Amino acid sequence: MVTINENYLKLSGGYLFTEIGQKVAKFKAENPEASVISLGIGDVTKPLPPTVIKSLHQAVDEMAQPETFRGYGPEVGYDFLINKIIEAEYRSRGIELETDEVFISDGSNCDTSNIQEIFGIENVVAVTDPVYPVYVESNVMAGRGGDLNSLGGFERIVYLSCKAENGFVPELPRQRVDIIYLCYPNNPTGTTLSKTELKKWVDYARENQSVILYDAAYEAFIKEEGVPHSIYEIEGAMEVAIEFRSFSKTAGFTGTRCAYTVVPKRVVGYTRQGTIVSLNQLWNRRQTTKFNGVSYIVQRGAAAIYTREGQRQIRELIDYYMTNASIIREGLMRMGFQVFGGVNAPYVWFKIPGGMDSWTFFDKLLREAHVVGTPGAGFGPSGEGYCRLTAFNTRENTIKAVERIECRLKLCERNSN
Ligand code: PLP
Repeated sequence: MVTINENYLKLSGGYLFTEIGQKVAKFKAENPEASVISLGIGDVTKPLPPTVIKSLHQAVDEMAQPETFRGYGPEVGYDFLINKIIEAEYRSRGIELETDEVFISDGSNCDTSNIQEIFGIENVVAVTDPVYPVYVESNVMAGRGGDLNSLGGFERIVYLSCKAENGFVPELPRQRVDIIYLCYPNNPTGTTLSKTELKKWVDYARENQSVILYDAAYEAFIKEEGVPHSIYEIEGAMEVAIEFRSFSKTAGFTGTRCAYTVVPKRVVGYTRQGTIVSLNQLWNRRQTTKFNGVSYIVQRGAAAIYTREGQRQIRELIDYYMTNASIIREGLMRMGFQVFGGVNAPYVWFKIPGGMDSWTFFDKLLREAHVVGTPGAGFGPSGEGYCRLTAFNTRENTIKAVERIECRLKLCERNSN
């Protein structure tokens, strides 16, 4: 008799966006005349920048010639891309990394969920709440979550509540935690942490021999001065933090797939006997065994982002989405909603008025305005009572969606926040 990994049964329902997709499909089937605008899932809508396309074409041509054809590549990525990342993303900010501290991959989704494999099962995991669900669910699948509790959280996971009341700044946990997931700029709230706030976490990790898993997938969207782009801008972080970055939102790679993870050699974990082990060595072992690497063609496409023209083109893309973010943010504020994010991140997070729960509001938004949002509760217990809208649609649809919310949504208590 084959037995299953019963941890999977602890997960509630389906993946959040699959569930939303099913609800939207049902609504469309029942209302074929409705033109639904999705500001739900955070997927880009603009095509890849021309410089990337040109580089992809050239790489395809190289694959057609015996002299330039490539077979299996290095599982951890080609040096031509790694060196460009180190130069442009880190050295330019005074951060020194070695080539073997950067691992190219096919996504931060995979990396942020696979990374937990290199840690012992007994570790206590902390997440900011609301949270990108992948951090929690990958740990639940592995057996670090325990059972689902009545608040919609897992009993063994420490949830660090981030709400309007605490300015979305997580407090240090009262109990000891070993693995801390931080995501800044944050998905879903769109908020950031200052260097001083981030330093508290780095100090905590150093004092407690913990590790910080820092997801900086939205770093390129930071507009304000002084907001940290990398956790390594914080003194001591090189000893306790792993950083994840992605080309998905920065350069339109959600379908093309390319990302990277930085694991400095100085970041360590411990055996039960207390022997120190480099996490870089473990992640390298994991990736070289279980991952075949990103295709040469895609890595060439990603490297083109680091040309002068590539930088200009991705800046245009980011600015386009961030203008959408301002349209949503300002529109909602004008309507009297209490709004967060949307300044350094392509996500706008707002409080649902009148104490309505977030799935009820999701249905209402869909039914009355034909707009898809993401219910805050889908991101964790502290997301209840909030809704997320993304800036990744077209300008026209973004404007139309805001107009529809303004004109069609029947919220008499809208101004009562
Ligand atoms: N991390 C965060 C916070 C995200 O929001 C996303 C995607 O939405 C990812 C990681 C995944 O990125 P990728 O497309 O590189 O897998």
